[in-house]
Amino acid sequence: MVNPQKPLISFTFDDFPRSALLEGGAILKRYGLTGTYYVSLGLAGQDSPSGPLFLIEDLKTLFEQKHELGCHTFSHCESWQTEASVFEDSVIENREALRNLFPDAKFESFSYPISMPRPGSKARIAPYFRSCRGAGQTFNRGTTDLNQLSAFFLEKSRHNIEVIKNLIYQNHLARGWLILATHDISENPSPFGCTPEFFDEIVRYAVRTGVEIKPVTEALNTLQIQGCETVQPRPYVVSECDTTAEITRKQPLVSILIPAYNAQEWIADTLHSALAQTWERIEIIVVDDGSTDRTVAIAQQFESNCVRVVTQKNQGAAAARNTAFALSRGDYIQWLDADDVLAPDKIARQMEAIGEHGSRKVLLSSEFGRFLYRQQRAEFIPTELWKDLSPVEWLLRKLGKNVYMQTATWLVSRELTEAAGLWDTRLLSDDDGEYFCRVLCASEGVRFVPGARVYYRAPGVAFGGSLSYIGASELKIRAHWISMQLHIDYLLSMEDSGRVRAACLKYLQTCFIYYYPEMNDIVKEVEQLATKLGGQIQAPKLSWKYAWMRPLMGWRLAKRSRVSLLRLKWRLKKSLDEMLFKFDGRLMPSRSSSKQD
Ligand SMILES: [Zn+2]
Repeated sequence: MVNPQKPLISFTFDDFPRSALLEGGAILKRYGLTGTYYVSLGLAGQDSPSGPLFLIEDLKTLFEQKHELGCHTFSHCESWQTEASVFEDSVIENREALRNLFPDAKFESFSYPISMPRPGSKARIAPYFRSCRGAGQTFNRGTTDLNQLSAFFLEKSRHNIEVIKNLIYQNHLARGWLILATHDISENPSPFGCTPEFFDEIVRYAVRTGVEIKPVTEALNTLQIQGCETVQPRPYVVSECDTTAEITRKQPLVSILIPAYNAQEWIADTLHSALAQTWERIEIIVVDDGSTDRTVAIAQQFESNCVRVVTQKNQGAAAARNTAFALSRGDYIQWLDADDVLAPDKIARQMEAIGEHGSRKVLLSSEFGRFLYRQQRAEFIPTELWKDLSPVEWLLRKLGKNVYMQTATWLVSRELTEAAGLWDTRLLSDDDGEYFCRVLCASEGVRFVPGARVYYRAPGVAFGGSLSYIGASELKIRAHWISMQLHIDYLLSMEDSGRVRAACLKYLQTCFIYYYPEMNDIVKEVEQLATKLGGQIQAPKLSWKYAWMRPLMGWRLAKRSRVSLLRLKWRLKKSLDEMLFKFDGRLMPSRSSSKQD
């Protein structure tokens, strides 16, 4: 039974091309890791379809670096085509060759060359090894055939790295043992290998998820599966985040800060999207705001040197964000709500846009698209804010044209974040709107980065989720009014002009319906502020769809009907989208990957 306490991954290389050790081994070493190399000793020093194969001196290096040497057939004879007795002879020949070269070494694991084994061959070689590995393009979990372990060949998805990251993620959730395999690791890889950059990105992602990474035989030891022989486990070098930091110390660190409240349905996908960032140096901090569901348990599955999970009693999203920031060390801050998703290159594209000598006072924004369940259906609709803009121009557009930017679109330097101050814990709704006004005021302006993308799960209210929704409670409506006044103050403090006043009036008019007519005190304050700005507020108009209700049932009811009809509409949309998402899931083996090769 493959049933690890923690999910496991093994990196393996078939045929042992030189580059698998020189390039691939070097990458593993940087993360403090080791792998398994399956060797056909009859082919030493020869050329192969995956480039030049190992030299005898490479075997020494391999042992010194504590990798595992696994067994292939001596002559690399094909598993299915070769008669069982010949196949067994080739295995014995490989064992003898190893004994002659390194009397102390012995093979404990085997991989079938080229194809599936004949049942007869499988039975014959079983006594020689603790495990034999095949292909299968999946991970091992539960009852597993140790004589034909499944492995995933990386090169089969080398044009779509997300497929592999997703598999690592699925293995994580299922607590399985994923054996990854390939051949050469080179800048110009054969059809059977992959590039160092590609391999490095896979290893980095795996390390970030906190999975245990061991060569095949050590993985068996961890699983306490003996196989045919009893072997003492070797001491193991634990990987540390600092080893990876060493390679990239010059790169800025990006902190991804995730406040979470009752987000059990979404948090794993959100974390996966954070872990899958192609930007090398990240840390992820999840602050659970007193969830009453499984949010914490799910987030804790991902705890590692890169992922930290803390809990506090329920104080609201703003307080959770302040806690996350206090714990962070990043040069840049990425805010991420627990139900939203980042595209893998979101941060990398924004960091590239800053460049090495870019100003730390420039605020970066990105595209965002709304979705419910099916991410591939997200619609990216540009607004007036999808541009490089000065702080005043940005706020003018936000207020005057009633457009907004989603929280996760921003990437903010630590300097700017500190200059802006803490999140305002009084604001139960639109706290992000108010907060980013302050960041904006402290900045030199906004740099919009086309192609950097955020998938915004919206609207939160339809899911009974964590996101705020105006109209939900009197407290939230009052908080919204505070936020509006602050918006206007910020804009006026930067520029007091005719166009600013006009935009503020427009803003007051657009939002008046939230308060009118029942919140008497706020209605009065809105009117006073409008007068101060040199204008007047009109009684709000309901859209024609609801306006007919007004003479019949009065304002309050018509407004309430509008809200409940909107909710009903979203609920229907949600069920339909969820159904189609599950349907897609049944057709595709891996979630969220739109294409597999
Ligand atoms: Zn092979």
